[in-house]
Amino acid sequence: MTTRSETQSTLTHLLTEIEHRNPAQPEFHQAAHEVLETLAPVVAARPEYAEPGLIERLVEPERQVIFRVPWQDDQGRVHVNRGFRVEFNSALGPYKGGLRFHPSVNLGVIKFLGFEQIFKNALTGLGIGGGKGGSDFDPHGRSDAEVMRFCQSFMTELYRHIGEHTDVPAGDIGVGGREIGYLFGQYRRITNRWEAGVLTGKGQGWGGSLIRPEATGYGNVLFAAAMLRERGEDLEGQTAVVSGSGNVAIYTIEKLTALGANAITCSDSSGYVVDEKGIDLDLLKQIKEVERGRVDAYAERRGASAHFVAGGSVWDVPADLALPSATQNELTEADAETLIRNGVKAVSEGANMPTTPEAVHLLQKAGVAFGPGKAANAGGVAVSALEMAQNHARTAWTAQRVEEELAAIMTNIHTTCHETAERYDAPGDYVTGANIAGFERVADAMLAQGVI
Ligand code: NDP
Repeated sequence: MTTRSETQSTLTHLLTEIEHRNPAQPEFHQAAHEVLETLAPVVAARPEYAEPGLIERLVEPERQVIFRVPWQDDQGRVHVNRGFRVEFNSALGPYKGGLRFHPSVNLGVIKFLGFEQIFKNALTGLGIGGGKGGSDFDPHGRSDAEVMRFCQSFMTELYRHIGEHTDVPAGDIGVGGREIGYLFGQYRRITNRWEAGVLTGKGQGWGGSLIRPEATGYGNVLFAAAMLRERGEDLEGQTAVVSGSGNVAIYTIEKLTALGANAITCSDSSGYVVDEKGIDLDLLKQIKEVERGRVDAYAERRGASAHFVAGGSVWDVPADLALPSATQNELTEADAETLIRNGVKAVSEGANMPTTPEAVHLLQKAGVAFGPGKAANAGGVAVSALEMAQNHARTAWTAQRVEEELAAIMTNIHTTCHETAERYDAPGDYVTGANIAGFERVADAMLAQGVI
């Protein structure tokens, strides 16, 4: 039997190898560290997990595709972007994970997201593997026609790698209902098949699940509420700071408000808005979803209760809860210090890896309840899997049914993470609980399926 410290040194050695084998991929290194640094107790306790090659296979994607995406803008100029799809692990089901369109996208970013996705999808308890994709295309300021031509060109290569039983993409940053529509149209045209389950996040009326747009934000709020309940508190009357103003942020604010909390901020890459009366969601949705504008327009139109701060950090705003819902590494060590000083009780990640490792450490040390993204934001992919189930059965569930399923899945994820952390001597540590519980499910399937 290997001891925890021997296992830890094997994992540390492996992390060094990962860095050498995958140069210039800092986000992937960060995600690998975050997971592997918590696995020593379970690998030491269960000798089958120490089998040579198991974790080495887990950190190497099954397949990585990089392709050219040429498209023409409205003036006829040709642009060339780069497309990615990383099919990381299919031990539990078809690869599943979103597509991100943002100028910061590169292979390392997609690999970090795909790696996280393996454990997140495992935690849902559903039959989905892990993958992620996207492009360095920037949709900001592009016309609908330009976005359509880009999506069509992207799918003209991607279609050969995906399928309802193979790999099922969805949305992420820069990819919402409009983009999924264009992508699905091109897939249908090329393949001459109505294969609804090949993409999730589709429009309602042509295969999309009710509550899919809401699911990530709603799920994160349910996870935050479950963490608070463990401490004998609830959401009623709590003040919340939320970053971002896209899909996840909007439905986080909606659910917080519905459950009696006061969500007072939102942000985008230009700055943040504070609204002491609570964010007016109709106005925010009009500006972000209909007009595709910037958040300063919210403050201009809202009146005296709101003001816009250009640049700066939304985490400077004092609150009981913080729900980062924009992008990776947006909540730093300095931000964590500010949040702690202002008495934050819980931080729950709607975005993927938004909190830097140093900030996570500080928050946990200060006794703040910390919900890692792979558990807290798993509601989105869970309802995507429910969308696949509805597509397969050629049926559509009511919103109430989907919401009940989502609530049950989030409760189950919270309980699993909580109990797993206790089982491995880390009570209250949801990071350890989520990583170990997700790992156990994937590792068991990989071991059963042989060395592939
Ligand atoms: P959207 O594109 O709808 O919104 C993203 C928001 O974050 C925008 O307000 C955007 O502002 C802001 N943002 C993005 N990048 C940056 C940046 N580099 N600096 C500052 N602000 C930034 O994306 P989603 O809401 O779908 O995704 C948000 C996060 O949630 C991501 O981390 C994603 O991976 C994660 N997530 C999403 C899921 C989903 O179902 N959609 C599921 C699980 C996780 P701006 O417009 O100015 O760029």
